[in-house]
Amino acid sequence: MKIPKLPVILIMAVILFSSCNNANRNKNAGNEEKQKQLEPIKIPPFNADSAYGYVKTQVDFGPRVCNSVAHEKCAEFLIKKLKQFCPDVIVQKGQVKAFNGSMLNFKNLIASYNPGTNNRIFLCSHWDSRPFADHDPDVKKHTTPIDGANDGASGVGILLEIARQLSISKPAIGVDIIFLDAEDYGPPDDRQRKEDTGDWWGLGSQFWAKNPHKANYFAKYGILLDMVGAPNATFLQEEGSMKYAPSVVRNVWNIAQKLGYSDYFPYEKAGGITDDHYYINQILNIPTIDLIHLDRNSKTGFYRTWHTTGDNLNSIDKTTLDVVGKTLMAVIAGEK
Ligand SMILES: [Zn+2]
Repeated sequence: MKIPKLPVILIMAVILFSSCNNANRNKNAGNEEKQKQLEPIKIPPFNADSAYGYVKTQVDFGPRVCNSVAHEKCAEFLIKKLKQFCPDVIVQKGQVKAFNGSMLNFKNLIASYNPGTNNRIFLCSHWDSRPFADHDPDVKKHTTPIDGANDGASGVGILLEIARQLSISKPAIGVDIIFLDAEDYGPPDDRQRKEDTGDWWGLGSQFWAKNPHKANYFAKYGILLDMVGAPNATFLQEEGSMKYAPSVVRNVWNIAQKLGYSDYFPYEKAGGITDDHYYINQILNIPTIDLIHLDRNSKTGFYRTWHTTGDNLNSIDKTTLDVVGKTLMAVIAGEK
């Protein structure tokens, strides 16, 4: 993913417009939210060791770059695990064109719990890893593919553990766990400055949003996980998430705070990111937030190993996996 280069005036105009439009709807939603805030919350089951094991298994295949053997092998592993945890798994495959003209073979993987109901939400994460470490401090490594332990595998590891938990205790609502492909094949940074229009990112989510796995697919909302495994992560309230799905952001942050995770989920706003949620909001119109580690103190705005060869297992902290996993399990449990 990348930080967009929208002019500030345009962003301000969009925020003002959407906040006027949503004023009444937000008032009603506000009462419901207040009610939810009063309800007590218990810590749901989630095993961070298990989530970490799933992160490690993905990384052990090597960089999961589209069209590589590691990518293919990892897809087999993910499909096998999803089928183990859920009877309804759909593999959506095809080809998408990358910025350099190459055709990428992609697979979006969807596991559906309670597939018959429209009272549902989805949780998603990209599972491919970036082909270039274009932000590595060592320029010689700028064309090296990355492990993507944090950028890719962390979200998938948490979601696989959630899938396992939902196989043990079925959710009251419908839940789709979606692994999106070809998110991180955007142009390398030197090239990006000249010719990146932004549409070369999130190729798998763009495909899925245009061609959902099910006709007339509906979900109340979606949550995207991206870079959710680094030590002491801070999940700031990203601008696009606040624009498209403010009540979802507030609900998730309120739940995290109740669980005692205020250091990880501060009530703090941050700028917009071009990530899978952007295309899902734009194309499919399902309110979707980006749960993403945004770093107030780093130059790029992301964790220091972002798009570097340092994005390996050393970037993963079990406590962060636990915080995110438990928060999401509580979000699911809170839906009726
Ligand atoms: Zn990335």
